[in-house]
Amino acid sequence: MDRLSDRIKRLGYSQTFVMSNKAREMRAQGIDVISLTLGEPDFDVPDNIKQAAHEAIDQNYSHYSPVTGFIELREAIVHKLKRDNGLTYQPNQICVSNGAKQAILNVLAALLNDGDEVILPAPFWVSYDEMVKMMGGTSVIINTSYTNDFKITAEQLQEAITPRTKAILYSSPCNPSGSYYTYDELKSLAAVIAKHPHVTVISDEIYEYINYETSTRSIAAFPEIYEQVAVINGMSKGFAMTGWRIGYSACPEWLAKACDKVQGQMTSGANTVAQRASITALQTDPSKYRFMIDEFKKRRDLFYELTKEIPGFKVLLPKAAFYLFPDVSFYIGKTLDGQKIENADDLSMFLLENAQVGSVGGVSFGNPECLRFSYAASEENLREAMKRIKDCLSRVEIA
Ligand code: PMP
Ligand code: GLU
Repeated sequence: MDRLSDRIKRLGYSQTFVMSNKAREMRAQGIDVISLTLGEPDFDVPDNIKQAAHEAIDQNYSHYSPVTGFIELREAIVHKLKRDNGLTYQPNQICVSNGAKQAILNVLAALLNDGDEVILPAPFWVSYDEMVKMMGGTSVIINTSYTNDFKITAEQLQEAITPRTKAILYSSPCNPSGSYYTYDELKSLAAVIAKHPHVTVISDEIYEYINYETSTRSIAAFPEIYEQVAVINGMSKGFAMTGWRIGYSACPEWLAKACDKVQGQMTSGANTVAQRASITALQTDPSKYRFMIDEFKKRRDLFYELTKEIPGFKVLLPKAAFYLFPDVSFYIGKTLDGQKIENADDLSMFLLENAQVGSVGGVSFGNPECLRFSYAASEENLREAMKRIKDCLSRVEIA
């Protein structure tokens, strides 16, 4: 008897975790795998944040917090949004969650009826499409490619909007492409959104700090659509706190209340110790943590140069985040040592098995002709990984 729900059967596993688990299993078998799969900073949590967590334990922050988070943390987030993004929110518009992942899910749960459409510019982060499905929605995908920096235009957005569109969900800076929308591009997207008041923008800004050019902008800064935007952010990337599970949303009041309702039935307030530590993190001058970005930039430059050298890989220099997303369409439809490569996921698996380098194929990012590598890894591993891939691809018989 099949006892699982249709909803669960529709859902796929998170491909980032599938590939990182595979790499981990191979390592456990004694195989020397370099895993460039999961996107997470490889730095330790900065000392002043750890210190704040120790103090929170000693001060017995061991009881439930309010569902949407401690008021001091929500005030720190409000201050951060003003300081870094020029956005004005009140603490009752903030919902602190178990990672940005839950913050996005809360918003989708609050917005979607069965069959509602959510626009996803591709490439998108792997969980977006699955989260939309989980909440009964349908994703409407707008394709982009490496030739247009993986970004959509206002005209494409306009064409994709229907009366059933409930939201557009994107990350800027983008996981996996590392591109981000400029002020002018956001302005033109905002002009389209303003014409469709039934559409909410879910603007995932979690890679905001990991940015190698000018600071990125939030679409919520355009007053004509402020009431239509849910800003998503969190502590995972900018503060190397992935395991501490703190993210947040900043929404118009009607939506913030709904997030509170969803979260209150699902998980309650996020981990209290991590919340207290996040207050310290957000109140610290961001320049104190800048050393991580400087280090990522060095690795980006190195990894980009190494990846350009791989035959058949076409790659852009990413402006933000810590991923490279080369177009590998050269290999698609070919056989490598007799193994048919139908899409980038097949190539990713081939490279894992034959070069012992883990990546994530682009199928679940909505770009089946691209591969994602996380360069949040040591310089030594980045050099070795690309050497292995280059050697492997120049050795194989391609037909
Ligand atoms: N959004 C994007 C674009 C991501 O890459 C991630 C991955 N961590 C998340 C949201 C979720 O982050 P977390 O749940 O760790 O805050
Ligand atoms: N966001 C990271 C990634 O894309 C972490 C894994 C996940 O949450 O999917 O690899």
